[in-house]
Amino acid sequence: MDEFSFIRSVQPAYYKQSSLIKGISDDAAVIRPSGGDVVTAVDTMVEDVHFSRKTMQPHHIGHRVLAANLSDLAAMGSTPAYYMVSITIPSDWSEEELIELYAGMDDLAARYRMDLIGGDTVSGRELSVTVTVMGTVAKGKARYRSAAVPGDVLFVTGTLGDSRGGLEWLLNEKNDSSSDQAFLIDRHRKPWPRVSFAEGLSTLQRVALNDVSDGIANEANEIAESSGVDIHIAKDMVPFSSALKNTFPDQYQDWMLSGGEDFELLGAVPLSDWTLVQENAETAGIKITKIGEVDEVSGDSPRVFIKESDQIAILKKSGYTHLKGKG
Ligand code: ADP
Ligand code: MG
Repeated sequence: MDEFSFIRSVQPAYYKQSSLIKGISDDAAVIRPSGGDVVTAVDTMVEDVHFSRKTMQPHHIGHRVLAANLSDLAAMGSTPAYYMVSITIPSDWSEEELIELYAGMDDLAARYRMDLIGGDTVSGRELSVTVTVMGTVAKGKARYRSAAVPGDVLFVTGTLGDSRGGLEWLLNEKNDSSSDQAFLIDRHRKPWPRVSFAEGLSTLQRVALNDVSDGIANEANEIAESSGVDIHIAKDMVPFSSALKNTFPDQYQDWMLSGGEDFELLGAVPLSDWTLVQENAETAGIKITKIGEVDEVSGDSPRVFIKESDQIAILKKSGYTHLKGKG
């Protein structure tokens, strides 16, 4: 395949962002930001490490790698604007498949008026896609995971563990043609990052946000550590879909805590702002659930506790729990 004709085929016909001075065509892109802060993140997906062509079509791969990046931008409270794509292409990928992969990114990007402004194209042994995103946020308004304070409400968007359930269906290669199975597979292949919801929080004085890429057990510990607080989660409040519970009755509770890549948002806000956050979720058309609260550190270092019936356990990053007070 000719690299130049490939680049031409993925080059946007026009750009939407007004701060763009120079897009694809020269040695680098040029942006003239209009005063706010610029937020940037990068994410890589490698064939047979992060995805397999058995479980994902090229379109899904494109969607998912950009979605992972957009989830990071959302977790910073920022508005997406640009993306760049570095791709390593093996000889067994056709030009049509690559164009499909780009279409997966483009369809998601279009929702947010994002522009593709550059990239790099090389050949190699396996497909690898690295996407860099750039977004904007009002000066000083980026949302950090270090912002949680004792007394805050801990919340999470959507339902948890669905992506893990979808992957299990795809790997098993069974097909029960149920709507539960289709729902979970879709959640795995086409996660929708919570961009609009996060943008809607811009009026809040303070909110801590972290996106759920590795499972809330991990993410809650990250908030606890960087904010220097304890976190208490009520297990029976953690949201899961009926599809996950129906099809994986033995695993759903583990997966809602440690199944990754749901790309939901875990956050902490002052109790006085909780109603506003709920209204904002309703406007964005997403589910939101209070799952616990933030407290002062009670031991030597920050910890996450999880309460189930009358038992309180310590929730480790891995999702592993052990009873409080037993070491
Ligand atoms: P250079 O040698 O200056 O890096 P390239 O031929 O690599 O130039 O790229 C030419 C233009 O095409 C640049 O604007 C670059 O950002 C863009 N580009 C190259 N590869 C890709 C890609 N895979 N996706 C999007 N844009 C790309
Ligand atoms: Mg180059």
